[in-house]
Amino acid sequence: MSFITAQDMELTDGSRIAVIGGGPAGSFFSYYVLEYARRFDLELELDIFEAKDFTKVGSSGCNHCGGIISESLVQELATDGLVIPSDIIQRGIKTYTMHTEQGTRKIHAPTDERRIASVFRGCGPRGCLDNSLKGFDNYLLGLCQENGARLILEKVTLLERTEEGVMVGCSKSPLRKYDLVVGAVGLNPKALELFKGICPSYSLPEVTRAYISEFLMKPRDIEKKLGSSMHVFLLDLPQITFGALIPKYNYVTLVLLGKDIDKDIVQNFISSKAVRSCFPEDFPVKKALPCQCYPYINIKQGNHPYADRVVLIGDSASSKLYKNGIGAAFITAKAAASTVIFEGISESHFEKYYKPKCSDLDKDNRIGKLIFWVTRIIQKSTILKRGLLGMVGKEQALEHSALRMSSALWDTFTGSAGYRNILRRFLHPGLLFELAKSTLVSNISVINRHSHEKQEDRQTL
Ligand SMILES: Cc1cc2nc3c(=O)[nH]c(=O)nc-3n(C[C@H](O)[C@H](O)[C@H](O)COP(=O)(O)OP(=O)(O)OC[C@H]3O[C@@H](n4cnc5c(N)ncnc54)[C@H](O)[C@@H]3O)c2cc1C
Repeated sequence: MSFITAQDMELTDGSRIAVIGGGPAGSFFSYYVLEYARRFDLELELDIFEAKDFTKVGSSGCNHCGGIISESLVQELATDGLVIPSDIIQRGIKTYTMHTEQGTRKIHAPTDERRIASVFRGCGPRGCLDNSLKGFDNYLLGLCQENGARLILEKVTLLERTEEGVMVGCSKSPLRKYDLVVGAVGLNPKALELFKGICPSYSLPEVTRAYISEFLMKPRDIEKKLGSSMHVFLLDLPQITFGALIPKYNYVTLVLLGKDIDKDIVQNFISSKAVRSCFPEDFPVKKALPCQCYPYINIKQGNHPYADRVVLIGDSASSKLYKNGIGAAFITAKAAASTVIFEGISESHFEKYYKPKCSDLDKDNRIGKLIFWVTRIIQKSTILKRGLLGMVGKEQALEHSALRMSSALWDTFTGSAGYRNILRRFLHPGLLFELAKSTLVSNISVINRHSHEKQEDRQTL
């Protein structure tokens, strides 16, 4: 009979960690665990298992994503001394352009220091011939390797619990025993099922299908039609909660989020006048899709993503609804890293020190759902959209405006602030009053204009 003591549930010199998945969650975890261990004078062995090769173009080297790195993450990384190198950044995003059927408004960053980066997660879309492109995921893995992690480019196919550890198996490498196994496998259903086997109370996150495609465009055309602005669309189209065009250097990424996006929904969206206006007139929008996919997106967190010697992080555990998933991966990864180094690796350690971070994200997402529900109502209402455009237009034109609506929209689009914080700002009496006033004024002026035009038509007849 063997007894597991509290000491066995701590990492000690020589302990071995397997991180399954080398996307942002796996890399952030590995980076911080090795940093904290160094401060503690703790010698760890850390292996990152990754099924993809991020130096390849197309889907074999890509973790399907819009590639927006939020300003809050850019700042958090910079605080820890991690400045994203300029050759990883495809374009700095300075403004958001909001498109509706009723018009377009540009929203500037609320302050000059607030910067967002657009990146490629891999080395570019399918068919991309530019071999100088560098991806974000590979950059993060490089940081981990510099910190002492070993990268194993293999898919993990077996996880098995033994009395003193967890066995990890791949098709080519021999089985190896680890003291701690970290699940950073994103939303890969097979890999998540493997974790369910060693983490019996874990329930998988809920997902839906999103859409991404990349348009190859001349940099000159991108500059002229989109500039350094992320273009977001509040269009009354079924099943689309959020549509965006993200400019990169010589590609434009289209992202659609909503409920089970399919081919027809995509065609409907790219044929709309507002989307067409972002491309040169002769650009074959419907045909020019060298790379497209329908990846899963996390819409509800998984429950109980931990057990003794096992913890799941990033999309596999909790994310941020529709926005800043990489930022959420950073939050869960860093919280798990500090738990395993400073507290321990038992289920109760994770319950006490790691779970609160996941619960915070979950609570915030519930408010996020409410915000997206209201956004959906606005998307469907011509009257409200006119009011919104009027208010944003006025705020952006005035030099010393309070920018209440603009800054709340900025944070909704960028995902930089928590949904709780955004809701509080949307409910500010000053914002609600100005929105009601703008809705009234802009709709009256449209009615007046229409009746004036009708009168003129009658006179001409
Ligand atoms: C359409 C869309 C657009 C998005 N746009 C943005 C955006 O602009 N900005 C943003 O911040 N977030 C965005 N997200 C969310 C973001 O992509 C995710 O939240 C983020 O990638 C989560 O990181 P992760 O490391 O948890 O998972 P992933 O990035 O999915 O990484 C998981 C890794 O695990 C590896 N893996 C899986 N199974 C195995 C196995 N058995 N063995 C070895 N390796 C394995 C995979 O190859 C992969 O590299 C978007 C998501 C979608 C769907």
